[in-house]
Amino acid sequence: MTSTTSRTVVVGGGTAGVRLVDRLAALGAADGVTVIGEEPHPPYNRLLLDGVLAGRYPPEVVELPRPDGPAYLSGVRAVRIDRDDAAVVCDNGDRVPYDTLVLATGSSAVLPPLRGLSGTAGPGSPRLPEGVRTFRTMDDCLALAPRARPGVRAVVVGGGLLGVCAARALASRGVRVVLAHRGGHLMDRHLDPRAAALLRAHLESLGVEVRTGCRVRGLLVRGSGEGRAVEGVETADGSRTEADLVVPACGVRPRTGLAAAAGLTVRRGIVVDDGLRTDDPRIHAIGDCAEHRGTVHGLAGPAHDQADLLARRLADPGGAGGTGRVPLYRGSRVLTRLTLTGPRTGTGPAPNPFSAAGEGAGDVFDLAAFGEVAAGPEDHELLLSDATRGSYRKVVLRDGRLVGGILLGDLAAVGTLARAWEGGEPPPGHPIHLLTTDGGHR
Ligand SMILES: Cc1cc2nc3c(=O)[nH]c(=O)nc-3n(C[C@H](O)[C@H](O)[C@H](O)COP(=O)(O)OP(=O)(O)OC[C@H]3O[C@@H](n4cnc5c(N)ncnc54)[C@H](O)[C@@H]3O)c2cc1C
Repeated sequence: MTSTTSRTVVVGGGTAGVRLVDRLAALGAADGVTVIGEEPHPPYNRLLLDGVLAGRYPPEVVELPRPDGPAYLSGVRAVRIDRDDAAVVCDNGDRVPYDTLVLATGSSAVLPPLRGLSGTAGPGSPRLPEGVRTFRTMDDCLALAPRARPGVRAVVVGGGLLGVCAARALASRGVRVVLAHRGGHLMDRHLDPRAAALLRAHLESLGVEVRTGCRVRGLLVRGSGEGRAVEGVETADGSRTEADLVVPACGVRPRTGLAAAAGLTVRRGIVVDDGLRTDDPRIHAIGDCAEHRGTVHGLAGPAHDQADLLARRLADPGGAGGTGRVPLYRGSRVLTRLTLTGPRTGTGPAPNPFSAAGEGAGDVFDLAAFGEVAAGPEDHELLLSDATRGSYRKVVLRDGRLVGGILLGDLAAVGTLARAWEGGEPPPGHPIHLLTTDGGHR
C-alpha cells in the first residue's frame, strides 16, 4: 500500500466494524480504509441469524450493505499486530500497514465446562464431537440448518438470549427441542420472572420443552477421536436426555488475544478510554471486544454507538468529535431487542430489529429490555400485564427517573421509553403514562 491518505485498518467485519466503515463513508472518510475479516461470507446482520437457522431467510437476505471505498479482505485472519512497524500480520502472510488501527474482533461463544468440552469455540479450539455446534456465526447456521430436520432431538444448553433464539429457530424447523437453563427463569440477565414466564409459555406453545433450574453437567458421547458423536446430555441430578444435536449457548467471551499479545491492556475486554482508545493512541477498540469503564456490553446497540462515535473522531480528528475534545461515551441505548418470528417464504428485505415499528405481522414475539429490570427497595415499579394477549410492560423509576424497563409482545412504546431513559430526566406527567403510551404508532 503506497498512499498519502491516512491508512485506517479495521480488524473484524462484524456489526461494529461494518457500521464504522458505513459511517466513515457517510462522512466522506472511507478512502484508505481496509477491513480484515476472518469470516468468508459478505458482512451480515448477526441479530437475524436465528431467522436463517429457522429457514426464514436465505443467507443473502441478511447481508449488510458494504459501502464503496474501503478495501475488504474476506476470509483473512489477523494473527499479530506489529506495533513497532505499525502493521497487521495476516494468516495469508500479508502485512497491512496502518496509521490508525481499530480492533472490532467481537466475541466467541463460550463452551461450558462439561466433560469433553471446554474453552471457546472458533479458531484453535478443540474439535467438537459430531452433533455439537455453537450458535454465533453464519457458518454455525449453515452447519446446523441441514441437521435441523423434523423429529431430530436437540438440547440447547443455556436459556439466555442466544439459547432462546436457537431453541425457537430449531423448533420452527420441527426439531424436538429441550431448552436446559440452570437459572430460575429464562433470560435472567434481561427479564424479570413474569416476563420470562410469558416467554416460556410462547416457547412451549411451539413445542419447546423448557427446563429451568437444570444444570447440564456432561455430554454423552459415543466413539473416540475424530469419530466422536454426541448422544445426549447428563444433568446434575443424574438424569439423561438423548439428543442428536447439542447447542451450547452459555454466553460469549470477548476476543482479546490479538490485543493482549500486542501488549495492550486487557481485562475482560480490551480496555478503552472515553474516546475508545486503547493505551496505544493509534489503536482503538469497539463493540463486543471493548471494555469501557469496566463494562463489556456484548450487545448491538452499544457496538453501533461506539462505531458512530469513533467514525466522527476519525473523520474529523481535530474537531469537536476528535481528539480536541474527547466526547464521553455514555453507553446509551443498551437495549436488548429480540424479534422471534415464524417461518416465512420469499426473499424480501429482512427487518431491522432495532426499528420501533417491528414487523407487525405473522407469528411474532417481540421483546425489548433495557437498564435495571429488577426494582430495588427504594424504587418505584409500575407494570401492565395482559396474559391473554401475551403482552407485558414494566418500568422501574428511581427518584422519578426511568432506570429500566421491559416491553414484551407490543413494542410500540419502545422509542418513547428509550428516549426517556437516555435523557435521564423525570418523564413529564404521571409515570403511568410510560405504560400507556403507544409511541405515536397508532
Ligand atoms: C443469534 C444472535 C442474536 C443476537 N441478538 C441480539 C439482540 O437481539 N440484541 C442485541 O443487542 N444483541 C444481539 N446479539 C449480539 C450482537 O450480535 C453482538 O453484540 C454484536 O454482533 C457485536 O458486534 P461486534 O462487531 O463487536 O462483533 P461481531 O459481530 O461478532 O463481529 C466480530 C467480527 O470480527 C471477526 N474477527 C475476530 N477476530 C478476527 C481476526 N483476528 N481477524 C479477522 N477477523 C476477526 C469475527 O470473525 C467477526 O466477523 C445477538 C448475537 C447473536 C449471535
